[in-house]
Amino acid sequence: MSETWRRFGSYDVLILDDGVFEAPLDVLIHAEGEAARDEAVARWGKPKVSIPVNCFALKGADGITLVDAGTGPSWGEAMGHAPAAMAKAGIAPEQVERVLITHLHGDHALGLFDGDRARFPEAEIVVPEADFAFFGDEAKRAQTPQNRQGGFAVTAAVKKHYAGRIHSAPVGRVRPGITLIPLPGHTAGHGGYLIEGDAPLLLWGDALHLSDLQAADPDIGFVYDFDAAAARASRRTILERAAHEGWIVSGGHIEGFRRVVESDAGYELIPA
Ligand SMILES: [Zn+2]
Repeated sequence: MSETWRRFGSYDVLILDDGVFEAPLDVLIHAEGEAARDEAVARWGKPKVSIPVNCFALKGADGITLVDAGTGPSWGEAMGHAPAAMAKAGIAPEQVERVLITHLHGDHALGLFDGDRARFPEAEIVVPEADFAFFGDEAKRAQTPQNRQGGFAVTAAVKKHYAGRIHSAPVGRVRPGITLIPLPGHTAGHGGYLIEGDAPLLLWGDALHLSDLQAADPDIGFVYDFDAAAARASRRTILERAAHEGWIVSGGHIEGFRRVVESDAGYELIPA
């Protein structure tokens, strides 16, 4: 895990290590069904799913920006370490000017809260407007399976604790040099943030949860994908685009900074 700031465009970027999320193998799905899933899992050869959880600090002329906020304390001791990583980097919560949220799942947004208050007293919260609208709609909650309802509670808490400081952002430029790219599927309004410059960096949220497995076979999905077919299409599109453009990528569940290259079957994420 990188512990040094690295320059992209007009920002210095630091990966904040929040911890590791572990889950049984049955959180994985495959577009071609269970047999294809089992085959891919057998080839992969790992006994369980072990996913790094990250968020990011950006230091620029406009102060400190975070991309996502980690899990906070409520998901157990294996996660919720982003505040310690921030403190180690010398960033106080009061210094955070804004948090760009890729989507409103707990491992990306619960870190916005410190118990029953906002962790970042001065920050504006930028959320993709399609995600904010979906998770703010009670009628949608009723149609959503229980195990995918977490985003509704997270959104209600954002509205309560950051009232008047929420920017529901359309796709496109959200800050000077930062563009929101839509990657729908994992959630309705899931997106990535592209830091523009000579060597652009795409922070793609949860386009991939398991970088090695899903890059090699982008048809592998995750049971928490809201719309598996849309998530798969977004995954394929963004892998192809990142490879073609030569973008460096990272994300909520990617280790370090990576470059996407084509491989025999699909893609490979190589250290950048
Ligand atoms: Zn996630």
